[in-house]
Amino acid sequence: MNILLLGSGGRESALAWKISQSSQCAQLFIAPGNGGTNAYGKNVNINPNNFDAVKALVLKENIQLVVVGPEEPLVNGIHDFFVNDDILAKIPVIGPKKEGAILEGSKDFSKQFMARHNIPTPGSESFTNETLQQGLAYLESHSLPVVLKADGLAAGKGVVICQTIAEAKEELQLMLGGKFGTAGSLVVIEEYLTGIELSVFVLTDGDHYVILPEAKDYKKIGQADTGLNTGGMGSVSPVPFADKKFMDAVEESIIKPTINGLKKDKIDYTGFIFFGLFKVGDKPMIIEYNCRMGDPETESVMLRIENDLVELFMATANKKLKDYKLNISPKNAATVMIVAGGYPGEYEKGKAITGIENVRQSLVFHAGTNLEGGVVKTNGGRILAVSSLQDSQFEALQSATADAARIYFDGKYFREDIGFDLV
Ligand code: AMP
Repeated sequence: MNILLLGSGGRESALAWKISQSSQCAQLFIAPGNGGTNAYGKNVNINPNNFDAVKALVLKENIQLVVVGPEEPLVNGIHDFFVNDDILAKIPVIGPKKEGAILEGSKDFSKQFMARHNIPTPGSESFTNETLQQGLAYLESHSLPVVLKADGLAAGKGVVICQTIAEAKEELQLMLGGKFGTAGSLVVIEEYLTGIELSVFVLTDGDHYVILPEAKDYKKIGQADTGLNTGGMGSVSPVPFADKKFMDAVEESIIKPTINGLKKDKIDYTGFIFFGLFKVGDKPMIIEYNCRMGDPETESVMLRIENDLVELFMATANKKLKDYKLNISPKNAATVMIVAGGYPGEYEKGKAITGIENVRQSLVFHAGTNLEGGVVKTNGGRILAVSSLQDSQFEALQSATADAARIYFDGKYFREDIGFDLV
């Protein structure tokens, strides 16, 4: 079948790599893709949020399956657009409809969902401009640090951790005052958790689910987890501290109540659910849902899935996930992200990239790259994900880190310590 994958990041490169290996895939189109995705299919330069352009492409290329990488088109209702269109209605879309994507699109909604279905999460209250005074009063007696979250999508920047009450009060006013645009017109004030973070993913057909390999990502720009938050500087899978007992607790206390909660709330959900978790003591707690895969977790996770991904997607679309057996490699995956100098602050684009051919034991998934006159150039903040699958976690980390060193462009930076805290 002909397949369309929407998106342009490292996550989409890893999905495209895996989809292109499927015996079911005749032709893969990636829209818009990046400077590397043309190795797996054909890039088509359209914006995934332009649904009419997506429709024209689907019809022109006789697409029979659509896979949505990023959250924005889902929150904007691309799946609904297909369902409500006479011609497109029969084409399966991997990714939830608006009513499901709101688990990511509104933090207030997701907190209410968690509370309604008894899913363990830190305590919280939400406030708007109308209730600003109550919000300020609520902060007066709050424990510290305190976490403030813009309700809507804020490109990963809408979470602020405040160390003092005064700072929190100021931040609440800034957010409600428009710091994050309309995303911050509702603010969730949440208790701060102390523990270790990890990402757990399922693919669900609305009734049943498969649990994909878990991963840990490294968000900070600096070595030893210092400095500013980024979109993610690397990842590992499996996560050593997520042993069977812990993962069983995740399934019982978080995954099952979420899937059952969606059913109870009559939200028909097809696609990935990404659970942003904390291990607090030996108990899992959830801080957020995302309605798509993580990046750079996907780059590590895809290396460990041995099944045909298109078969898995079709089983999802056809509600056949019951008893679906996922084969997960016992090997260890590690991903090191190479970023532009200055990222996550200001950075330049258009730097020529060399040395990808020197990589020995890893796959290189392009993220913020493009092709200009046959030359691969930087075109974003996060440039390349270098991913390695090896027998031990130490070997995977070593080879991904060594291979990241073999690639060059002006201003290039990567963390040399990804995952080494775990081995
Ligand atoms: P998010 O944008 O929701 O992924 O949050 C960004 C980061 O903020 C998370 O990855 C955590 O490191 C941190 N964070 C969010 N909520 C909490 C919380 N309740 N306690 C501690 N850290 C948090």
